[in-house]
Amino acid sequence: MPKHPLIAGNWKMHGLRDAIPEALAMDTAARQSRASVAIFPPSTLLFALSEALNARPEPSPVRLGGQDCHKDAQGAFTGDLSAEMLKDAGAEMVILGHSERRHGHKEACESVAAKTLAALRAGLEPIICIGETLDQRQEGLTHAVLSKQLRDSLPLALEGQTFHVAYEPVWAIGTGHVPTDDQVIDAMLLIQKHLAQRFHNQVVPHTLYGGSVKPDNARHLLSLDGVDGLLVGGASLKAEDFNRIIAAAD
Ligand code: PGA
Repeated sequence: MPKHPLIAGNWKMHGLRDAIPEALAMDTAARQSRASVAIFPPSTLLFALSEALNARPEPSPVRLGGQDCHKDAQGAFTGDLSAEMLKDAGAEMVILGHSERRHGHKEACESVAAKTLAALRAGLEPIICIGETLDQRQEGLTHAVLSKQLRDSLPLALEGQTFHVAYEPVWAIGTGHVPTDDQVIDAMLLIQKHLAQRFHNQVVPHTLYGGSVKPDNARHLLSLDGVDGLLVGGASLKAEDFNRIIAAAD
C-alpha cells in the first residue's frame, strides 16, 4: 500500500441534496486519515457538494469528480456534459470507461481515450477503468482483454500527467463476488507492468481495485500487492460504511 492510498466513492445514479450531510461526514473521516479521498456524486450534486465542503472553516481534503464526460468542450450534444463543465461545477477528477458506460452505452476504448484527452485538456485527473467479463475470464481471455483495454483506452498524452487506473472485473461489480487474492494481484501486476513500459511519469499512477469492496474486505484488499487504492460503489453511499473503508487505509 502506498503512503496515501486513494479511496474513491462512485455514487453512480444515487443521491439527492439530502445526501450532502453524508458527504460532510465523509469529509470529517477524511481529515483524520492518511488516505486521499475522492467522491464521485451524480453531476447534479457536484456544485452543491463543492459549496458545502468549501464552506467548512478548514479546506476539505475530499476531492470531487464526475462519472463520465464528453470528448468535446461544448456543442450540440443534448444530455452530455463536458470535462470543462464538470470542472466548473467543482470537479477535480473524472471516472472514465466504467463498465456501466462501456456496456450500457457501448463505449469503445477509443472513446475512452478521447474522453481522457478531454479530461486532461480541462485539468481533471482521470481514473480509467478496465475489467473483463465473466465469460472472458472463463475463456482464459483476461490478460488479452486487459492488455487491449489498457493499450486502446490510455492515450500517450498521459505521459507526464497524473492519472489512475482501476481494475474492476465486471463480474465483481455489485455482485458480492470478490476475485481471489491471486486474481487481483495478477491483474494489478499486469497493469503496473504496462504502465511502467509505456509511461515514464514522475507521479506514479495509483492502481485501484474495484468491485464489491465493503468495510469488511477493504483492509485485506488494500494489503494485496499492487493495490494502491479502492474504487467503491454501493458501500460509498453511506458515511457509516465509507468511513470504515477510509479507516481501513490507516
Ligand atoms: P460496487 O461497484 O462497489 O457496488 O461493486 C464498484 C464500481 O462499480 O465502481
